[in-house]
Amino acid sequence: MASGGIGQVYGHTTNPKVATGDGVAMAYRIGADIKEIEFVQFHPTALYEPFASSTFLISEAVRGFGAELKNKSGEKFMYNYDARGSLASRDIVARAIDAELKNTGENCVYLDCTELNQADFSMHFPTIKNTCLQKGINVQNDWIPVIPAAHYGCGGIKVDKDGRSSINNLFACGECAQTGLHGANRLASNSLLEAFVFADKAANKSAELIEQIVLPINIPDWNDEGTIISKEMVLISHNRVELQQMMQNYVAIVRSNIRLERALKRVKLLYDETEKLYQSSKISPQLCELRNMITVAYLIITHSLQRKENRGGFYNTDLV
Ligand SMILES: Cc1cc2nc3c(=O)[nH]c(=O)nc-3n(C[C@H](O)[C@H](O)[C@H](O)COP(=O)(O)OP(=O)(O)OC[C@H]3O[C@@H](n4cnc5c(N)ncnc54)[C@H](O)[C@@H]3O)c2cc1C
Repeated sequence: MASGGIGQVYGHTTNPKVATGDGVAMAYRIGADIKEIEFVQFHPTALYEPFASSTFLISEAVRGFGAELKNKSGEKFMYNYDARGSLASRDIVARAIDAELKNTGENCVYLDCTELNQADFSMHFPTIKNTCLQKGINVQNDWIPVIPAAHYGCGGIKVDKDGRSSINNLFACGECAQTGLHGANRLASNSLLEAFVFADKAANKSAELIEQIVLPINIPDWNDEGTIISKEMVLISHNRVELQQMMQNYVAIVRSNIRLERALKRVKLLYDETEKLYQSSKISPQLCELRNMITVAYLIITHSLQRKENRGGFYNTDLV
């Protein structure tokens, strides 16, 4: 299994549209151990675009270069949360922005690059400059609207040092796997290293074992007798958006028991509705993805409720 991340479970994510957690959900359904899925890393500064399901990343190097986070009134609010201001670490900045948005009721905060040397900025961050420009933001004069967005899933299908899951002969690597290497939070750029190392290990181990494996030959064809082509795509698209909003509001950067319990009730409702649809309709990629996203959401919520300690990317106000 090498199906990538789970970011699409959230309303704001830097992940591509395919990051719907299919591998984690499929593995869970056949009984694989899933571990530390509650540790979701949020990138503090993704470009805020109200209707985009995947958002463009404004690298943290931009803050390292001197850009300042400000709220709508121009206040450098980060100093209310940490003495390092905009240069505080990823988790602290993401949590501070989350608190600021909840306190002010605004949709985004801003990254002010207007005071920076623009020639140097263009040289160091040409893609950011051009992407912003395409969206009508000239960083020389305009503040960049930003929000925190789900960026990396530290947990997933639990594997050993050879990439073996708890299911016989099922290997996993990359973002869908939990190797233990990232702990409670991933350090920037460790994910690609992990993916390479564990893909190599998993490939070598499976090559060793492949001769001994007897593959089942009588896998029946998919039987969709008695199911119909649903003319109600809105049921799928609406539930996807509802799930993403619910996860963004209740199970994102800052969690609490009451929000998690509320989320659990909502996700069960979405599960019942979607399973009914799954049993009665001809399957489609959209329906399968929704079903998988609901499973991943359920796992994040239940694992969060079980966790009794704040650590790394996990923060529950009831555990402070
Ligand atoms: C904007 C951004 C910037 C990043 N920057 C860095 C960085 O600088 N350094 C770093 O180390 N990491 C970075 N990461 C994280 C890193 O890119 C990912 O963790 C990594 O690419 C995951 O690799 P993967 O092979 O597990 O998954 P992916 O590269 O996502 O590949 C998964 C593949 O599985 C396919 N797939 C999914 N579901 C199905 C299905 N049901 N059936 C068939 N195929 C399916 C997908 O189409 C895709 O091809 C970044 C991530 C993002 C989003």
